[in-house]
Amino acid sequence: RNQSGEIIEWVGTCTDIDDQKREEENLRQAGASLERLIAERTAELNRSNRDLEQFAYVASHDLQEPLRAVTGCAQILKRRYGAKLDGSADELIGHIVEGASRMQTLILDLLAYSRVGPQQKECAEIDSAVALQKALANLVTATNENGAKVIVGQLPMVRFDAVQLTQVFQNLVANALKYRSSHPPEIRVEAIRKTEEWQFSVIDNGIGIEPKYFERVFVLFQRLHTRSEYPGTGIGLALCKKIVERHGGRIWVESTFGAGSVFCFTIPFKD
Ligand code: ADP
Repeated sequence: RNQSGEIIEWVGTCTDIDDQKREEENLRQAGASLERLIAERTAELNRSNRDLEQFAYVASHDLQEPLRAVTGCAQILKRRYGAKLDGSADELIGHIVEGASRMQTLILDLLAYSRVGPQQKECAEIDSAVALQKALANLVTATNENGAKVIVGQLPMVRFDAVQLTQVFQNLVANALKYRSSHPPEIRVEAIRKTEEWQFSVIDNGIGIEPKYFERVFVLFQRLHTRSEYPGTGIGLALCKKIVERHGGRIWVESTFGAGSVFCFTIPFKD
């Protein structure tokens, strides 16, 4: 400015930010279309999961009928003709009966799995101790046969489907009995209060699981043993995971191989 305050010279810089603005706009558009794509894919995935569950349900439901026919006929064959046939025929009939009974277990497990719907409806508050007692009552024979001791801590009220909570406890305790070591099984069930959820633990002194299998055991049909070592379908833990996650919780295992396992799952507090 000169002495009278008028501007006599102007110094400035000018930066062309057209490119930068264009880039930002491109990124914004790319972000928006990525979001759209993810939403579409998620909807597609949910749809195909629903279809798959529906298929598993219908297939397992409809398979029961022909299976009953096979089992029924094989049993009649054994009863009526057992004495008249030779040893190897008897053995073959035995295989049919045994195979059919295994298939029945598989079908029932699959039905239970596909029955857990995609969206959990609003649940009433229930006593988790009662759900556990029902599970233990269903397992009383296996518990006695194994000479097992079950110790139950203080368990809370939770918002959860009562039948499904019993199913989760039953699968976890049944596994604790099945995958026992040479020591008599000792199983503890307890719950601790965390900031936003209850954390339940089913603790056993069984054979344990190697860390590399910690995730795998929760995948449908994944087993760490052959059927001749331990019977099973590989559905139990996948079912537990599905039930727990549908209620907004998580499930995982901690274990020392050879010394026992701790299966933990959470149930969030709800107002
Ligand atoms: P299943 O018992 O029918 O094989 P699950 O889904 O219940 O199916 O379990 C998957 C696998 O996880 C089992 O085959 C077993 O190898 C392992 N597992 C489950 N529970 C235990 C446990 N308490 N201790 C050791 N291994 C276990």
